[in-house]
Amino acid sequence: MAKGRVRLFPERCKACGLCIEFCPKDVLGFDEETINMLGYHPIKDLKPESCTGCAICAVVCPDLVIEVERV
Ligand code: SF4
Ligand code: SF4
Repeated sequence: MAKGRVRLFPERCKACGLCIEFCPKDVLGFDEETINMLGYHPIKDLKPESCTGCAICAVVCPDLVIEVERV
């Protein structure tokens, strides 16, 4: 199984939820303990060990919050 790693820029996240909805491995979720400069609970990698590096999350994010690295 391919492995990947997400690099997040949570200050840009507008919490639209698209990346959460489209991630096939349920890696991503909202960080309920943080509020970013835009006033949202930003994205967080809740299950980084499950990431396959498919990069769907990075493609669907409208705000360039996510970069994906294959490892
Ligand atoms: S690269 Fe794929 S598996 Fe990893 S967090 Fe993004 S959508 Fe999920
Ligand atoms: S798609 Fe982008 S802006 Fe929307 S919740 Fe995910 S990281 Fe945040």
